[in-house]
Amino acid sequence: MVESTEEHVVVHIGLDDIDSPFNGCTTHFTYMFIKKYLLMNENIEFIDYPNLVRLNPSIPFKTRGNGAVALRIKVRKPYKDVLIKALTNSLTDYINAYDVKSKYSPGVAIVEGNIPVELSRIYMKALTDYVHIDYLRNLLNKVNNIELPLGISRGVIGALAAIGWPQDTDCTYELLAYRLIGNIGRERCIDWNSLREVDVKYKDYVFNNYDHVEDVPLVAPHGSDPVLLGIRGNDPEILVKYFNELNLCEAVDGWMIYRTNQGTDAHLVLRSIDDVRPYRTLCVETSVKSRPKVLRGAHVVIEIHSSPKTYAAFYADTSLTNVARDLNVDDEVIICGSVKQWSNNTNVLNVEKLYIKRKIIKEIHNPKCPKCGKRMKSLGRDKGFKCVRCGFKSKEITKDINISIISLNSLHVVKTSKMKHLSKPLSRYGRERKCSYLIPTSKWIEVYV
Ligand code: ATP
Repeated sequence: MVESTEEHVVVHIGLDDIDSPFNGCTTHFTYMFIKKYLLMNENIEFIDYPNLVRLNPSIPFKTRGNGAVALRIKVRKPYKDVLIKALTNSLTDYINAYDVKSKYSPGVAIVEGNIPVELSRIYMKALTDYVHIDYLRNLLNKVNNIELPLGISRGVIGALAAIGWPQDTDCTYELLAYRLIGNIGRERCIDWNSLREVDVKYKDYVFNNYDHVEDVPLVAPHGSDPVLLGIRGNDPEILVKYFNELNLCEAVDGWMIYRTNQGTDAHLVLRSIDDVRPYRTLCVETSVKSRPKVLRGAHVVIEIHSSPKTYAAFYADTSLTNVARDLNVDDEVIICGSVKQWSNNTNVLNVEKLYIKRKIIKEIHNPKCPKCGKRMKSLGRDKGFKCVRCGFKSKEITKDINISIISLNSLHVVKTSKMKHLSKPLSRYGRERKCSYLIPTSKWIEVYV
């Protein structure tokens, strides 16, 4: 852990909500700020890659992927105030230049020295639940080494949560390439064949950049944000090679690598079935209460054993519906996803992952004749059974019910193109590690313009 010294102070800068659906983006502002003020600046040293921290994907305020940023640097003491001034001035310029509308509430937070434990709590809450602004106010009353140069805003929730992303948790990397200002809004020019080939070449080190089953590229956002593409992977050096081998048919401003919590399932925390609430992300261990119901659009819904009443919804475009349709009452499952509330106030868990522990297979047959052993014929509801071979009849005899329990332990995830930024793809299982702040030793930013 890098600590403050007589000459230097460790500073964590959190940023969020510096965007609008049509213009700007928090990571783009970060790149522009680093490019202008922090690169080649002898007053500062990075003690970690810039962090791109994804938060609760079901929060309604998000513009796109609910991402916030943290920068962790060592600053020469006399320079700290100059740096904060430069940061707030750049932010004002960016907001004006990119027309970041007032509906959005940019948040900036600065923490000097050790990170208070309350920030890892706000991270967990912002990642897996809804954070009320009063929760933020309460936190700010308890902690005194937080500066908010722009004051309290909703964006501060994400900014503080990003700073609070704890060490010793799994992490991955993303290289984001930024468009030239004049190209923003135009169709992106990327040679998709080269992407497909490069992705196959580095498949053991990268994830969720190309859906090879559906033949769909996943690196480029849609619409007019300043990101040309983002390449996700487990190793920052491979990301640079991957990027350099792509055929891009448009010039870029530059690129930067972030350390991130993407692809780690950090949001899928195991909760008790009584803790299912709207906007929470979770996994619950439960069993199936009702037979699967297929809705219009081929979506599948089941009720799970819980109180209050909770449904699990499997959407047709996630590729989970086939397996959901085969679920039986009493099957033991772990279901993961985020909770929404339908208009009738019932909680619905939108399923991202389904783990079938045990399947209950019930076979029901007409009874065998106790006299001759032949299967009997039903005489109608409540009228008993008759043997067609020997003529034996009985009203008391009941159907044979055979229950077999199969330990399945099968895991089902949504298809690659439907995964959230935070979702852990199957290829990352077994590749988890404990990450800490990491001073970049190889190239992590390139500025062309
Ligand atoms: P982009 O991907 O372009 O950066 P975004 O999807 O990250 O956009 P933001 O514009 O950053 O969305 O908006 C998210 C807003 O929601 C921020 O103000 C953030 O502080 C706030 N927020 C994030 N998570 C939570 C949460 N769990 N509870 C309440 N507010 C949250």
